[in-house]
Amino acid sequence: MTSQRTRDRLVRRLREEGISNERVLQVIRDTPRHLFVDEALASRAYEDTALPIGYNQTISQPYIVAAMTDLIIRNHPQKVLEIGTGSGYQAAVLAPLVAKIYTVERIEPLYKQARQRFRKLGLRNIRASYSDGTEGLPEFAPYDAIITTAAAESIPQALLDQLSPDGGRLVIPVGGRARQTLTLVTRRGDKFEREALDPVIFVPLLNGQT
Ligand code: SAH
Repeated sequence: MTSQRTRDRLVRRLREEGISNERVLQVIRDTPRHLFVDEALASRAYEDTALPIGYNQTISQPYIVAAMTDLIIRNHPQKVLEIGTGSGYQAAVLAPLVAKIYTVERIEPLYKQARQRFRKLGLRNIRASYSDGTEGLPEFAPYDAIITTAAAESIPQALLDQLSPDGGRLVIPVGGRARQTLTLVTRRGDKFEREALDPVIFVPLLNGQT
């Protein structure tokens, strides 16, 4: 179930779907996704599908994690902020590829579980916070890159403000509940270039903590 073969099969599939960054594929192969879902779902952890993690939330589909990771690491960021820790899987995939990751979650039990997973896996360059990501994480700004794994109806101003003015990149699903567009924003000084990428489906970015 968690054999090398099932992981290799996932990587082969991601390759077929167009993921070509070898470093990203290697990290996906090495990251134990079965430890980021409930035991009852562990046998499905290496399928290319989103899975429930409780509290009406999901761990993203590996293809989306790989594609977003690829976008995020293209300009070799040192400091990355993730909005929407969820299971912690996306942060764990980014951890070997960047110097430092800050990740924020608004649902306390998910935050606590993810923090335990990071500790257990020895992922020491991830700093998890229990807070409302629509406000970003101003204490440690600016960020070379910000990845948002929940969909925003419109891009929170705080996230734009906390991007590094020197080519900082924000990857965020933008749109209503049913369907969104993965959007890449690149900041150069006071200019924000916006590029629409693929259609995606994410859970909504909500305000406040619970
Ligand atoms: N990156 C996660 C995906 C989790 S789904 C993973 O790899 O598993 C998106 C997550 O975003 C949910 O856990 C949800 O609670 C969280 N979220 C939604 N709005 C948020 C907000 N304003 N601040 C922080 N987290 C938020």
